[in-house]
Amino acid sequence: MPPQRDIGLYIHVPLCRQRCHFCAFYLEIATPARIAAFLSALERELTLYHRQDVLAGRALQSIYFGGGTPTTIPSSQLASLLTRIRKIYALALDVETTVEAHPSTVTRQDLSRLAEAGFNRISLGAESMAPQDFIPIGRPGTISETEQAVENARAAGFSNINLDLMYGLPGQNLASWTATLHSLLALDPTHISCYALTIEDHTKLAQDIAKGLVPAPDEGLQIEMEEAAETVLAQAGFTRYEISNYAKSGYACRHNLLYWTDGDYLGLGPSAQSYVAGSRFGNIADLDAYTGQLQTDHLPVAERRILTHEEQQRDALIFGLRLLKGVPHTLARDDAGQRDILTHLTERGLIVNEHDRITLTPMGRRFADSVASELF
Ligand code: SF4
Repeated sequence: MPPQRDIGLYIHVPLCRQRCHFCAFYLEIATPARIAAFLSALERELTLYHRQDVLAGRALQSIYFGGGTPTTIPSSQLASLLTRIRKIYALALDVETTVEAHPSTVTRQDLSRLAEAGFNRISLGAESMAPQDFIPIGRPGTISETEQAVENARAAGFSNINLDLMYGLPGQNLASWTATLHSLLALDPTHISCYALTIEDHTKLAQDIAKGLVPAPDEGLQIEMEEAAETVLAQAGFTRYEISNYAKSGYACRHNLLYWTDGDYLGLGPSAQSYVAGSRFGNIADLDAYTGQLQTDHLPVAERRILTHEEQQRDALIFGLRLLKGVPHTLARDDAGQRDILTHLTERGLIVNEHDRITLTPMGRRFADSVASELF
């Protein structure tokens, strides 16, 4: 029998206290009624998958509560949910268990409760350490709440702390971005994610830019900021291991690595995506429809596709290219057309195809999506 691939469990909480101006994700505003509806449907979804034995005794390498903002749900309920998951599924001994949190939504007591329930990694959405950056993007909260949340998380026992940042924000410049990086480093996280701001259609930020109320992102400046992040974070002992992710040694996010290393993951919750045994499927992105399906004991899957071997290889190549170490050359198709494309991408300085591995160059990383689309 072939060895079992690693698998992770993702719980998608599509609830936030309010919508940030740049955010185009499917989500709903968290109210006690919506939280209750979500949790009761999620419980049914967990039970259905458990009954169908979808994970077939495989031990979970990672559990990840993402969103949205999972911590809009009271910590006692998040803790109960994790306890239930830990009871019904086999876990790897060193299972990585992450909860995403907005700093304003967690008290010291909440964080202690989450750590006691088994969460051992926290990902806090800092976004910036300069208060003026929050205004145009409609990010609620203060810098001191971020600082307090990190201190509280550490006091609660979290030793693995990720902080998310965004760059290319309206009004941000290279000096203020560098200052944000240094302020963030002073909080001593183990992992940092740096995401370039992208303007999504139909968001308030897109409308504000169109009206001339807010400046559009400057691509050249974003590139300088990306380079500054790589330099400043490397000096502080962080390795960039994926386009947007930096970690101290031993702290790369195991759950997210599943996405980039062709691992399996089962996603629960509205709009959650899954990839299990060569099959990709995604849940309905609507809480009412999701709840309705589960009330009649149907899985809330909106689309499902079984991938051919070639499609699996293609996806492994596309996602794996996001890693700085790239992918084995054997993932590329061995035909004349593919070889021509690889040669062309190499000549344009977008990839390096050497030592049996394909990696993106710094320029290739900026155009990762178009490089991937040219490959297939
Ligand atoms: S907290 Fe995150 S998911 Fe929620 S609205 Fe803001 S960006 Fe979107």
